[in-house]
Amino acid sequence: MVESEVNLTKTYDAIVIGSGAAGGMAAHVLTSHGLQVLLLEAGKKLPIERELRSMEWPYDNPYRGQLPPDSHSLSFNEYTIRNPPYGPGFEKAKHLKSYIGSSDYLKNIVVNERENPFTGTNYAWVRARCLGGKTNIWGRLALRLSDYDFKAKDRDGFGENWPISYSDIAPYYDKVDLYLGITGVKENLPYLPDSIFQRPTKLNCAEVTLKDSLAKMGRVLTQYRAGVTTDGLKHNKYRSRCYGRGACERKGGCDIHAAFDSPTGLIYPAMDTGNLALRTNAVVREITVDPQTGKASGVRFIDNQTMKDYVVHAKVVIVAASTLESARLLLLSKSRQHPNGLANSSGHVGHNFCEHIMGPGVAGRAKNLVGKPSTLDDGRPGGFYLTRFRNLAEKHPKFIRGYGFEGGSGSTMFPRGTDAHGFGAAFKEEVRKNQGAFVGMGAFGEVLARYENYVDLDPFVKDKWGIPALRFHYKFGDNEHRMAEDMKETAQEMFEAAGFEIVNVSGRVLTEGWSIHEMGTARMGSDPKTSVLNQFQQSHDVKNLFVVDGSAFVNASCQNPTWTIMSLCWRSCDYLADELKKGNL
Ligand SMILES: Cc1cc2nc3c(=O)[nH]c(=O)nc-3n(C[C@H](O)[C@H](O)[C@H](O)COP(=O)(O)OP(=O)(O)OC[C@H]3O[C@@H](n4cnc5c(N)ncnc54)[C@H](O)[C@@H]3O)c2cc1C
Ligand code: SF4
Repeated sequence: MVESEVNLTKTYDAIVIGSGAAGGMAAHVLTSHGLQVLLLEAGKKLPIERELRSMEWPYDNPYRGQLPPDSHSLSFNEYTIRNPPYGPGFEKAKHLKSYIGSSDYLKNIVVNERENPFTGTNYAWVRARCLGGKTNIWGRLALRLSDYDFKAKDRDGFGENWPISYSDIAPYYDKVDLYLGITGVKENLPYLPDSIFQRPTKLNCAEVTLKDSLAKMGRVLTQYRAGVTTDGLKHNKYRSRCYGRGACERKGGCDIHAAFDSPTGLIYPAMDTGNLALRTNAVVREITVDPQTGKASGVRFIDNQTMKDYVVHAKVVIVAASTLESARLLLLSKSRQHPNGLANSSGHVGHNFCEHIMGPGVAGRAKNLVGKPSTLDDGRPGGFYLTRFRNLAEKHPKFIRGYGFEGGSGSTMFPRGTDAHGFGAAFKEEVRKNQGAFVGMGAFGEVLARYENYVDLDPFVKDKWGIPALRFHYKFGDNEHRMAEDMKETAQEMFEAAGFEIVNVSGRVLTEGWSIHEMGTARMGSDPKTSVLNQFQQSHDVKNLFVVDGSAFVNASCQNPTWTIMSLCWRSCDYLADELKKGNL
């Protein structure tokens, strides 16, 4: 890998803030256009293979894979009954982690909540401050959006349409598929367009039973569409093809990088162009503005380790710090020309925040598989995806928009869903007998993008670096709660129809934020009065400023966002490079 030196006295063509899915993609596309790019990342470059240890057996780990004793990961109840930054009651835990940081393998990837406080309404905010951000540990379900999402307002009258259609982004989805690799099976569904898939994984016995039963109900179950290369990528020497090692299930990333992550998928290849300089431990605290022109002139950042302050300049600034952090940064960047925060003449920065509601689901047993020999069911990057079926041809009387289910079945390294009780040999026998018959699924539903769901800056609380913390004003609404009731009912109905023995049906809604799919805080639109960015994720107010992460989404859809984040970003960066060459920025 070619590491270019960082030169803080130089004016770069572009500064990219954040190195996750969005920042990595911006670095890749802009360097491939020949631009000189500086990538600033708040966290460290971790020796990621040593962190993930995907093939380590639990008995080889001193904590059996759990967190060390001086650390604590927040539980569901702790999110709902304690106020962040979690003072009294958590004194013993030197390191306080989000719910997702509950294993020894993720402890250095997710942030220490104490150093990164936030305030306001309940929110399970998962942040990964390190090179690659959340892509090091993402679940890899890689789905496209369709005009059912981009033009959702035309269908039900709620919110706004996106300023683009599927045909605008489709060529970029194709580019992302081919550059990064994705596995799945074509289904020809208008509301969930197909990708250019590599070798698919196989559904197992109970999954096929469910698929066949759902087909009779007009519902579609398909193989998990994973952002994983199953055939390998000849153009990328940093990634291996998937060997189906059975480690994906263990709450962590893929240490051979068959699953997409931003460093090996995008950043290292971008470095090899010789056009990318990377500075980690660089916490950007402000986007600076030229007092004459009002345009972005660069950024101010603090070195994470030395706490020293630096300024660096560029012709274009690209914000890719993830939806919530990007909004925070825009709000922090107040100046005489932009007193409300940068790119915020509309007052919409931080607003229209949306995500996915989670919780309802079902677990059961395929009775014909109880007592059968174990099979290698976690030797693949995912189980199944049950696609949206509400508000497509017919209107649901109680809610608008839709939801899908993620699920899986069969034997795994850690047996799932067993209701066995007791201890000793009899208990083990019971677990063995039932685990291969397990089948379960959980729903992800669209949370409506509403102006009144927003984040702003807390006037008092600051993070470890003295930067004002984010404050949430965010709650699920009636539409989401009615949808959650339906999720529970349909989950049960579908398992019953498949003939599964139901072990548990849950209607409990998880804390806001649990889905880790954040969107909408700087939405795109054609009207600068009601939107922050244009269709190329370019600020209406500041033409050399782009926000290329999930902030730009106009609604959340119910499909996972990361493949769309990267496709939109690719499209915007092609436009940016062209505009820069023409002298328009
Ligand atoms: C456990 C888990 C499972 C997931 N599963 C899925 C899934 O199945 N499908 C899906 O589509 N998505 C999934 N996601 C979400 C997915 O990871 C995110 O959508 C994606 O990573 C967003 O990319 P991003 O670049 O916007 O943010 P990130 O990947 O979070 O990257 C942002 C980067 O910016 C850096 N940064 C933040 N603030 C600053 C600052 N001030 N200065 C400098 N740098 C800064 C951060 O340190 C970070 O590295 C999952 C996430 C998690 C954690
Ligand atoms: S199943 Fe494939 S993608 Fe998942 S950890 Fe194993 S090699 Fe990586």
